[in-house]
Amino acid sequence: MAGYVSLQDVTKTYQMGEITIKAADGISFDVEKGEFVIVVGPSGAGKTTVLNILGGMDTATSGKVLVDGAEISKYRGKKLIQYRREDIGFVFQFYNLMQNLTALENVELAMQICKHPLDASEVLEEVGLEERMNNFPAQLSGGEQQRVAIARALAMSPDIMLFDEPTSALDPEMVGEVLNVMRSLAREGMTMLVVTHEMAFARDVSNHVVFMSQGVICEEGVPSEVFGNPQKQETKDFLARFRSA
Ligand code: ADP
Ligand code: MG
Repeated sequence: MAGYVSLQDVTKTYQMGEITIKAADGISFDVEKGEFVIVVGPSGAGKTTVLNILGGMDTATSGKVLVDGAEISKYRGKKLIQYRREDIGFVFQFYNLMQNLTALENVELAMQICKHPLDASEVLEEVGLEERMNNFPAQLSGGEQQRVAIARALAMSPDIMLFDEPTSALDPEMVGEVLNVMRSLAREGMTMLVVTHEMAFARDVSNHVVFMSQGVICEEGVPSEVFGNPQKQETKDFLARFRSA
């Protein structure tokens, strides 16, 4: 039985003149509903590629992606747009808010493209921004802006939330507030896939770790296994870089 989300032998190749880059090279893993999956690995490992393929922002060169039984890797055109709007919430490293719209208006704008939006002010309250709804992005800290971006994604009532390095652009003192929002989403049972370098957070909150390197899954399992007892030398080397930091 395939999981709620199932990637099956997914590959993505880029042709750069004579050179073929295998950004994803036979990626297979399953995610159950309500799971919090952390995707870790060095830069260039293919983490963003995998997230973009699952989020319908990119298409696989080969392989299958199933979401709740539907083969989304076959979707093109309108179906793919609908999938992106109805099923997936995406949070990026850079929050990309409209500078001339307030926090509330930014969230409301996104809601206009989906069928079953939530209440924008309620979602902003959920991420702790009830006092900041009428502020413009320039009046908000980086952490607050990223929480608006999370609210914007949540307001579309997605089934799956994807985060690609959501705290990498933040000043250190603002990382915690964004991680806390993600932690509470996880507790509420949201299905989440998160690319992050916040290893302590990953270990603490996730129930499933996928370690990627050079387009393949090097190791996968529960955090206590992957972080506590890594089997592969690549995983050990990668984790050691964070311990010494
Ligand atoms: P990560 O997110 O783990 O840093 P990426 O998924 O962004 O890795 O990239 C994986 C590999 O694919 C890298 O070698 C990257 O340079 C290459 N790549 C990603 N996107 C493109 C693209 N549009 N064209 C060519 N190569 C790309
Ligand atoms: Mg990336």
